[in-house]
Amino acid sequence: MNLLFSKIKEPEQDALAALKDLLAKMDHPFHEGDSVGIKLHWGERGNHSYLPPEYTREIVRWLHEKGAKPFVFDTTVLYSGGRRDGKDSLETAAEHGYTKEFLGCDVMIADGLEGNDVVDIPCDLKHFPTVQVASVIDKAQGFLIFSHFKGHMAAGFGGAIKNISMGFASRAQKQRMHADAFPSLIEKRCTRCGVCVDVCPTGAAQMTDDEFPTYDLDMCIGCAQCIALCPVMALKIQFSGDFKVFQEKVVETAAALWKRISERTIFINALLNITPNCDCLPGKEEVMLPDIGFIGGYHPVAIDRESLREIGENLITNTHSHVPWQRQFEFAKEVGF
Ligand code: SF4
Ligand code: SF4
Repeated sequence: MNLLFSKIKEPEQDALAALKDLLAKMDHPFHEGDSVGIKLHWGERGNHSYLPPEYTREIVRWLHEKGAKPFVFDTTVLYSGGRRDGKDSLETAAEHGYTKEFLGCDVMIADGLEGNDVVDIPCDLKHFPTVQVASVIDKAQGFLIFSHFKGHMAAGFGGAIKNISMGFASRAQKQRMHADAFPSLIEKRCTRCGVCVDVCPTGAAQMTDDEFPTYDLDMCIGCAQCIALCPVMALKIQFSGDFKVFQEKVVETAAALWKRISERTIFINALLNITPNCDCLPGKEEVMLPDIGFIGGYHPVAIDRESLREIGENLITNTHSHVPWQRQFEFAKEVGF
């Protein structure tokens, strides 16, 4: 099935009207009474560029109209912002307007409030014999993957591939993907505020009087929370091995998952609020492009490729020049994803 576009037609047309146009054109594999999980990212606490809940409410309304029983979900994360455990994450969701009352459906943490409601599924491609994901994969009859398409500091871009990869992954699987990552300090930006030391779960980040912080790589587990929570973005991700391996691991996790959900899943990418980095970062980021609209599709690789074309690949290459994001597409092809 082909990709579907719904661009914002004129300055006066709001994005919600464009989303309604897209939904009116979309096919779906859902049956009457199917429970359909809407996978999205409701934004880290303090983030300003996440998608507002009005779009999700429209998708919920559309799914109800089709006879499905939608629910909205995300999973717990590695770092200690506002989404580390299920309780925190649901509070953050509510602060951002993602409530049952507003959306008209349940809002859930798909790997459980403690992050331990997970299953292992076969993989056996290049890096992982199995991948561990939220148990929702076996509980919902269908999925609608709703992704905010934008830049990402480690993957170059974040869209549908990342939303099913990191998005469904258990904390352990997220850690396996990040295992070779560690923080690297940009001293001229650092204000020596100590946040990175406070949030580090292992004691790897240390700071003594009158010195810049240091990061003990033997103790570092690559959780990236110091990077995500540094208020002045003075930390960047360095990979101890080949940075391409991270790209491959993200795609490999998505590919394993895709084998289980491909017959019952559709995608919508929102090309709105296109910022350099993901919605995991607190704070307000500069928007790089005027809003474009929405793309609907039936395969994560195809919809992300087209989304990149729409925003201009150079924008991602120039913004994250150290990230070999192209490897995601090469690897997807190599493993038949
Ligand atoms: S959080 Fe950022 S600014 Fe603060 S000490 Fe750490 S690296 Fe420096
Ligand atoms: S130093 Fe390593 S373990 Fe500590 S917060 Fe940063 S990435 Fe995580």
